Amino acid sequence: MKQCDQCDQLLSEIITTCPSCGSEVAEGIQSIDNYRIVSILHEGYSSVVCHAIDEETEEDVAIRIFTPQSGVDDKIAARLTTELEILKELPTDYFVQHLKIKQSENGLWYRVSEWIDTKNWSQLFTSDYFNDYRAVFNLFRRIASILDGLHQIGHFIPHLILNDVIVFEKAPTEAIDRRTLPTIDLVDQSVDRVDIYASELDRSASIVLEGDEPSLGLVAEGVVELQVNGEAKQRIAAGGTFSLSGADSSATIVNVSSEVGARVITFRLR
Ligand SMILES: [Zn+2]
Repeated sequence: MKQCDQCDQLLSEIITTCPSCGSEVAEGIQSIDNYRIVSILHEGYSSVVCHAIDEETEEDVAIRIFTPQSGVDDKIAARLTTELEILKELPTDYFVQHLKIKQSENGLWYRVSEWIDTKNWSQLFTSDYFNDYRAVFNLFRRIASILDGLHQIGHFIPHLILNDVIVFEKAPTEAIDRRTLPTIDLVDQSVDRVDIYASELDRSASIVLEGDEPSLGLVAEGVVELQVNGEAKQRIAAGGTFSLSGADSSATIVNVSSEVGARVITFRLR
């Protein structure tokens, strides 16, 4: 929160023109210690949550700045630090990691946490995410398996609410044993990057792959037909793989089923 110089109206950090008197307002918080603030995600009475970059390591972090109104002082900060140390004993795969509680040069207390690029629930509810029952099923399966994992080691979350659950922007793709992929001969190209794409093909849908970059592909679900340079079609079922040399003009992949979807993972070598 900041205050308008002219009329003392309390304003959100992101506001640059006072809605009350119309005067220009100085920009909100830009940094705290050596963390550069990228965006403000949530601003409440007692804290401001930001996405920030650690200027020393260039790593993304989430920062919760406790406002002066929050009442956080040395004593509460010590309690928060103790709580944070206890939380660190929980499995790191299941929880957002809170790294430290610090006091800034100008006296503000703040908490530094791991940054996770996520969608919030209101974005999810207004998107078409829930129209895909597979995504919903997968999401609830993940939530249930994490709760089950915690249960197994004696942890219970008695009052779990939706906002305690973080949904990743993209569901993590299932582990793929890359040793099963075919090999590819690269004559005079050095590869220093592999981009991985997951393509969902609805019933009878097709995709065209860029033919000018060498790729390896894996059919993860369904049955597809691959046609390279207009030549004979090759039928590949789930678990099957293919390679594209990079010298091809075009490659088309068609889901041959008119009843079920297909999914193809491609590893594009760059
Ligand atoms: Zn004003």
